[in-house]
Amino acid sequence: MDLDALRHQIEGFLRQLAEEEYLQQAGLKSESQGAVIYRQHQHLFHPTRLDELRAAMGEGGGTTGPRLLLEFLTHACLEAKVQDVTDRFLSEEATAFVSGEERMIPLRGAEVAIRDEADRARRSRLEQARAQAIDRLNPLLRERLTRLQEAVTRLGGVSYPALWEELSGIHLDDLEKLIHTLLARTQEMYADVLKWMLKRTLGVPLSEAKRHDLARLFRAPEYDRLLPPQGVTAAVETAAQKMRIDPKAAGRIQIDAEERQAKTSRAFVAPIEVPKRVILVVRPGGGWGDASAYLHELGHALHFANTDPALPVEFRRLGDASATEAFAFLLEGLLLESGFVRRVLGIPRERDFLRVVALHKLYLLRRYAAELIYERGLYDGRSPAQAAEAYRSLVSRATAAEFPPALYLYDVDPAFYVARYLRAWILEAQLREQLYERFDEECYRNDRTGPFLLDLWRQGLAPTLQSLAAQHSLGPLQIDPLIRSVARHLA
Ligand SMILES: [Zn+2]
Repeated sequence: MDLDALRHQIEGFLRQLAEEEYLQQAGLKSESQGAVIYRQHQHLFHPTRLDELRAAMGEGGGTTGPRLLLEFLTHACLEAKVQDVTDRFLSEEATAFVSGEERMIPLRGAEVAIRDEADRARRSRLEQARAQAIDRLNPLLRERLTRLQEAVTRLGGVSYPALWEELSGIHLDDLEKLIHTLLARTQEMYADVLKWMLKRTLGVPLSEAKRHDLARLFRAPEYDRLLPPQGVTAAVETAAQKMRIDPKAAGRIQIDAEERQAKTSRAFVAPIEVPKRVILVVRPGGGWGDASAYLHELGHALHFANTDPALPVEFRRLGDASATEAFAFLLEGLLLESGFVRRVLGIPRERDFLRVVALHKLYLLRRYAAELIYERGLYDGRSPAQAAEAYRSLVSRATAAEFPPALYLYDVDPAFYVARYLRAWILEAQLREQLYERFDEECYRNDRTGPFLLDLWRQGLAPTLQSLAAQHSLGPLQIDPLIRSVARHLA
């Protein structure tokens, strides 16, 4: 098997997929046509091709590179079986509307409208309308899930989670143990601070908290004035230069900040070519949430745009995404550094700000922890009603706020991405403590921090989390640094 020819073809396939995702999610076109791209490249992930690759891996002693190619192509083979329904879902999502009070709101903009609505009764009606619009898409998501499981069986897999674990080499049981500790050890701190903040900010008692109340609470509009989009970008670019990092990576990073109706409210990065052409897509609006999303995506963009171009495609694009998420969280985490918040962003009374950001992080950690537990059970043949109830009860309990059961599939990222996020948060906290140790608490002002980060980024996705941890003597993944990272602002 000619691995280099295969790599070349995979590179072309990935470029087309990233371009398609960019155009569709950035609202530049409504119709999703991923299925066409999968059809053009179907020879790449034909089951006989996967067998050949497995055989070639045997000869090469099962090295990381070919294993990553196999992991990617197996997932591509599964995705290809459901891509028609994925396209239907994305196209309908891009054109769906939610009925607001005086106007129709695009579904993809509804979450922003909910966060922006200060009146609780109106917000509750919007939340309900959004949940109904999502529920209308649920039959497509259910069909996707069922067909995905059937495709796993046809490939000889036992279940989707088992196949995922086998391909990724990640043990979900190990991760689940860590997150159970996280849930138990942060329970009281989370409920205490949330109760106090909800009452003080929204006048809502914790026992009556709903998902949309938390969305409003974490919107914290009082910081909008202090964090205008251009102001944040300028502050971050100055900080990057102090660390000796070029924030545009010599033009390899392009920014799409244009307002478009069908643009998704979640910021994202489209790595069209790594490292040559990386598009950072944000939805501007100001406020700390947008600043945070911008920093996160900038972390991805800097990672991809600084990856060594000489690495083979699997190490530039296909490794464990937990690494790139950890780098994104490292940048996002600047909003939890009191010196950065006070001096660089110029936010007065920074302790209040840090408390909001830390509570939001803990909310996300607890929500994703619950989602991991929920998603592991999603493929065991339970009925839609049972799955929706499992989602509602697990996520509501972890976040102390009532979640609409209709989100039970909409809220699920493909391919257990939730596990990548959780591992990334754990690694990020360990790496950050290392940065403090080497470059002190104000590492974002140190001109030695940049070269250290550039060295990490240059490796692309080649190192596993274990080898990254080993490079920096971090030891095994451990939950304590992550708990400490939020507790220092909440306890
Ligand atoms: Zn990310």
